[in-house]
Order: sequence, then structure tokens, then C-alpha cells
Amino acid sequence: MSDDRVVGFIGLGQMGLPMSRNLIAADFSVRGYDLAEPAQAAFAAQGGTLCASGAAAAEGTDILITMLPNSAIVRAALLGADGAAASLRDGALVVDMSSSAPLETRELGRELATRGIALIDAPVSGGVRRAVSGKLTVMAGGAAADIARARPVLDAMAATVFAVGALGAGHAVKALNNYVSAAGLAAACEALLVGRAFGLDEAVIVDVLNASTGRNNSTDVKLKPFVLSGSFDAGFAMALMAKDIRTAADLAERLGSDMPGLKRAAALWQRASAALGKDADHTAIYRFLADRHDDVD
Ligand code: NAD
Repeated sequence: MSDDRVVGFIGLGQMGLPMSRNLIAADFSVRGYDLAEPAQAAFAAQGGTLCASGAAAAEGTDILITMLPNSAIVRAALLGADGAAASLRDGALVVDMSSSAPLETRELGRELATRGIALIDAPVSGGVRRAVSGKLTVMAGGAAADIARARPVLDAMAATVFAVGALGAGHAVKALNNYVSAAGLAAACEALLVGRAFGLDEAVIVDVLNASTGRNNSTDVKLKPFVLSGSFDAGFAMALMAKDIRTAADLAERLGSDMPGLKRAAALWQRASAALGKDADHTAIYRFLADRHDDVD
């Protein structure tokens, strides 16, 4: 087994767990770590080598994947106390598949490079459904040779891999995608609530949207199964969505782009996340709008 067939994986949550399962199914040997005990147990049960820390997961690997909540946590997992970078060999490659902040990713890349470690950003879209089916979309940023080196690993988890530019470019486009996605979901939920107040059947509204120009990914795959059903469990936390839109809004600000819709979306999702708590799914934006739609400016 060549070294690149042994992969370290830190962050075995809603996405990382099925992604690592697909790596194992593709005959990679996966050394995994997560803080949470249920994630550890589920990873061991699916055939992964469970390690006691991120540093232990990185031992003996030349490719280390992170699938963690945000940039600060990725940085701490790599460079903090007992960080994984200390266990990586000179020439190793870190693949940050989390939805991190692009400018922080560039800074992290510079710091890792001083230790002889390369970094690419390779965030994903497709949600839990495609993480399970191994059909994610990856948007990768970094040196072409490093992306090429990661391809066998990425191909085991994804149907499509876009090389989108220099380090941080993947994280930038991911944050921008999630802004567009969140705006589509919030707009659709607002339409449902106004239509309902008018006496329309919400399922009929969804059918009309999906046969009309208002159709988007949320109207297509989220409204009926996760909103109208009342389950609100699509598998992507509202706090993570709020973080992604904040990342996009911060990027716009840093670049001097004044985007009113983006600013408003960042504020709306932040308020919804604070109101509904850390366990809320992003599809619960409908509940927030239903309860407080007269209070959102
Ligand atoms: P999650 O909260 O389910 O998983 C994150 C995991 O990281 C948890 O199991 C947590 O215990 C673990 N963790 C946190 N800090 C850690 C640390 N210091 N060391 C080790 N483990 C630690 O989140 P998720 O939904 O799997 O999302 C992961 C990333 O992927 C996020 O950046 C998110 O924005 C992004 N993302 C999620 C989805 C989705 O649909 N859920 C889709 C695309 C991208």
C-alpha cells in the first residue's frame, strides 16, 4: 500500500462520517479522529481506524483531511496544542474540506508551508445526501500539483471536482454558493408563508414553483421533505449556514464590495441561528420566519 492510500481524517460529523465511509469503501485505510464519542463509535463501526487525537490520526499519513465546523477549529486542530501538523511528515498534504474562510485559509497555508506541509482547500456541496452517495461536488483551491495529488481521495467522495484557483478560492466560492443557496431557501419560505396567509395550499405552491421560474435547489429537494413535513432535519445546521453567509459577507467587505442583499442575509441568518439555538437545522429558517416574520427588517 503506497503512503497516499493511508489517509488521516479529522471531523467525523454529519458529513465527515459518510465521506470517510466512502474512502474506506474505495480501499483507503482511514485513520480518524473526532471529539464526540458517538462520532468515534460510528467511525469505528464502519471500519475506520479510530485514533485518540488528531495528532495520532495524522501519524504515518501523507494526506490529512479536515472536515470541521470552521477556520478557527481547523487551525486549532492542526496547529494548536497536540495539533495534527506536528505528526505530519515533510511533504505531507492537508486537504481542508470544511467550509472555512478564504483569507484565513491563505494564512494557514503560509504557516503550514514553513513546516514543509502543503494545503489545499476542497470544500463540498451536495449535503448529507451526496456525502452518503459519494457524489459530492468539490471546489478545490491550491497548487495544481497538490490538487492532482488529492484527486484519488477526492474522487472517492465526489462526482465532480472543480479546480477553481489559488489557495482559498474553493472556500470563497463555497461561501458565495451558500449565500445564493440560503437566499433561495429563505425566499421560498417567505413565499410559502405569504401564500399560506392568503389561503393557498403550500404543497401546491411548491409544485407551481418547481414547474416555474421560481424553482431552485431548495424548492426542489428541501421544501417538501424537510419543511412541509415539519421534520426540519436536512442534516445541515443553521449555525453552519449562518457562518457561511457571514464568511461571504466578510469577504465582500474586505474586498470593498457593498452588497445589500448579502448583508441582509448575513444578519437574518445570524438572528435566526441565535433565536433557534445550536441544534437547529438550516431548514428551520421557515419556523423563524413564521414566528417572527413581522419582526425581520
Ligand atoms: P458537524 O457538526 O456534523 O460535524 C463536525 C464534527 O467536527 C463534529 O462531529 C464535531 O464533534 C467535530 N469536531 C469539532 N471540533 C473538533 C476538534 N477540535 N477535533 C476533532 N473533531 C472536532 O458538521 P457537518 O455538517 O459535518 O459540517 C462539517 C463542515 O462541512 C462544516 O464546515 C460545514 O459548514 C460543511 N458542510 C456541511 C454540509 C452539510 O450538509 N451538513 C454540506 C457542505 C459543507
